[in-house]
Amino acid sequence: MSVAVEFERVSRLYGNVKAVDNVTLTIPDGEFFSLLGPSGSGKTTCLRLIAGFDQPNSGMIRIHGVTASGVPPYRRDVNTVFQDYALFPHMDVQANIEYGLMVKGVAVSERNSRAREALESVELQDFATRRPAQLSGGQRQRVALARAIINRPKVLLLDEPLGALDLKLREQMQAELKSLQKKLGITFVYVTHDQGEALSMSDRVAVFNKGKIEQVGSPEDIYNRPQTVFVANFVGTSNIFDADAGQLLLGQALAFSVRPENIQINQPADECVCVEGSVHEIQYHGASSRLSMITENGIIVTTIVSNSVLHQHGLPARGERIRMSWPRSAIVPLRQYA
Ligand code: ADP
Repeated sequence: MSVAVEFERVSRLYGNVKAVDNVTLTIPDGEFFSLLGPSGSGKTTCLRLIAGFDQPNSGMIRIHGVTASGVPPYRRDVNTVFQDYALFPHMDVQANIEYGLMVKGVAVSERNSRAREALESVELQDFATRRPAQLSGGQRQRVALARAIINRPKVLLLDEPLGALDLKLREQMQAELKSLQKKLGITFVYVTHDQGEALSMSDRVAVFNKGKIEQVGSPEDIYNRPQTVFVANFVGTSNIFDADAGQLLLGQALAFSVRPENIQINQPADECVCVEGSVHEIQYHGASSRLSMITENGIIVTTIVSNSVLHQHGLPARGERIRMSWPRSAIVPLRQYA
């Protein structure tokens, strides 16, 4: 496996804030790799360290095997797409895209042909003479992308690049970004606080919390096998139980989580964990509802039920006795309960 970016025990402190706290990370070449976490968890700082806009206090960063320390941003084989796009308003699309090459002194004919290629890869070939103000948000986003890929960087850093777009457009751009990454074969390092975005686009995801990485894995790993309470909580909705609840529910002092969609109501169940209680709360969410039950020990268990199923069986009333069950295979032990 060839490695694009490597962090070895990297820390970045601001005063006494540990923005990045002893992070070790390997991003393989050609992956769509997301840094996912809440605001302030250290994602952007990691990106800035890779770009060379900031320096670690300790630890080592390598980009394609080369120690990054002392290498200025413009000599690193990486490029950044910023959330606000940072386009020049007085230049047309073509000039914006060619700007970096012009500064480097690349000849006009080569600049033009590379700009055409970059515009084609983001499907903006018909917009070369427009100014940024004459474009939609999604088109401006694509110009920013074209400008970043024209240098053919080995690694593209993207800092919440879809943050300014509305939901529909964001979903469309997610699909486009993913296919562009595969087509170009460039390593993408993508910062987002949106777990849906990270799960839908990434080959692998690193989940950040307070400057540390809690877990690295495929979207499927992160979602189905969260190792810590933080990951189980941050990625999707989960039922999280401490060891005391584990003793009561499983007969075993185990901290664990179960995804709501793995829990069934009033179904006959072999090889399942069965828990009885009364309906605590029902929240309507359109296609589905979240239904929670409280046991006589005060443990709350939540499931998600499709509303068509719920209405077929009659909507349970608050306080009504119900039984919930989940297969043993849906139990995810948690390494750390904090
Ligand atoms: P994220 O991208 O996950 O939102 P950041 O990497 O931007 O998080 O920030 C991590 C922490 O470092 C936060 O507590 C933030 O306030 C702090 N921080 C980031 N940049 C600076 C800076 N230039 N000066 C002081 N503190 C900073």
